[in-house]
Order: sequence, then structure tokens, then C-alpha cells
Amino acid sequence: MRIGAHVRQDTDPLGTAHRLGADIIQMFVTDPQDWKKPETHPQAAALRESGIDVVVHSSYRINVASLNNRLRMPSRKAVVDQAAAAAELGAVGLVVHGGHLRDGEDAALGYENWRKLFERQADKGGFPVPILIENTAGGDHAMARTLDEIARLWDAVGDFDTAGFCLDTCHAWAGGEELLGLVERIQAITGRIDLLHLNNSRDDFDSGRDRHANLESGHIDPDVLIAVLEAAGAPAILETPAEGIAADLDYLRAARG
Ligand SMILES: [Zn+2]
Repeated sequence: MRIGAHVRQDTDPLGTAHRLGADIIQMFVTDPQDWKKPETHPQAAALRESGIDVVVHSSYRINVASLNNRLRMPSRKAVVDQAAAAAELGAVGLVVHGGHLRDGEDAALGYENWRKLFERQADKGGFPVPILIENTAGGDHAMARTLDEIARLWDAVGDFDTAGFCLDTCHAWAGGEELLGLVERIQAITGRIDLLHLNNSRDDFDSGRDRHANLESGHIDPDVLIAVLEAAGAPAILETPAEGIAADLDYLRAARG
């Protein structure tokens, strides 16, 4: 099982990976807050040859479910561009949040938009890396907060082999899903969990808030996080506060013996 962390893309991600002893790193390929097209990363070749796995997290503004053309269209383009950049890094996938709609909008149309993302790309030969759809913590109109929503999403995208799933433990907890047995419940829907975002939560169960904590310092029992990791058998990325990541990795290594 490969374990690592989200690292900064702009300050020597490979060096950070070596310092942390990470088997896998997650990084952005462009400023996550804007729509800029990614450029080739200066460490792309070195990362491909490093033996360290890479996964790319897409930028935050992306919402492929949106019924608003002016948000959905740049979102689709950004997913395509960032998937290409991920392939350049030899990445195992591109993480994309499930997204959300606005008050009064029909969820069925949001799921249809997810399906269209894969359909349109299938016409062009498909995505070069799996698109790992991540569960989110909050909002009343999320596409992938609850198991019911994930089931609707998978009805829409489950036929495409490049549609994968990324389970974030903080988001599931804050989104009101019990963590024990969750891996099995999700696998029963999706047939796969490709990646774990292993994070504790600064907030209570079902708070709807997305504030990650280091493994031993949040509201989730760290033993439960280990149980999720063992059950998923997927690579795990820490998205915990940077100052505690080395200690989080030590904790994981010790807990797994
Ligand atoms: Zn996450």
C-alpha cells in the first residue's frame, strides 16, 4: 500500500517526496484558484523516473456538474487539460470533486453533465488517466456527499473505465457518513476505490464543514482511519496541515507495523 501526502507543486515536489519518504505524492498542475492552462512541470521527467507515484488534484473552481454553461464549459476544458498534464507526469489519476448545483436545480441534470464529460472524451479516445471523483463534505446540492448521491453519480458514469473514485475520510465524516464499513458500502456501489484522502476532521460528525486535521488531532478516532486504510487497500494521500505531515506518516507506518 503506497502512502504519501499532498505537496506543493511550485517548490521541488520531488525533493519534498524524498524528505518525507513518501511512496506517492499529490500535487496541483496549475494555480488551483484560477483557470490557467497547465505548463509542463520542470520536474516532469524526473518525477516519471523517480519510482514515486504521482496523483494530480484538479483546481478548485472546476464544477463539471454545473447547469451554468459559463462554469461547466471551462470546467470540462480544465479537466481535459489537467488530465493531459497529469499524464505528462505519469500520474495514476486526476482527482476531481463531485461538484454541486444551486438551489432549485434538478440533480438529474447535474449527473447527466457528469456522464457527458466522459461521453465527449470517449469520442476523442478517452482520458489519458483515470478521473478520480472525490466525495465532498458539505452543501445541500452536492453531487457526491452521501452514499445515495454517489449511487446516482455511478449510475451516470459507472460504464466508463476511466471513472474512478477517491474517498476522503474527513469529507465523509463531515458529510455524515459513518466511517466503519464505509469502504465496503462504497465498493458495493462503485466497485472500486482508487485513492484515499486520509484526513482527520477539525469538526463534528455531519458538520458539513471541510477542515482537515492531522491524524491524531481531530474528531475522528485515529484507529478508525487506520481501519479505513486497511479496508480500502488503496494508495493514501494525507491532505493534513503541512507542519504535521511527517508525524502523520510516522504514525501510519507505526500503526501498520
Ligand atoms: Zn480530499
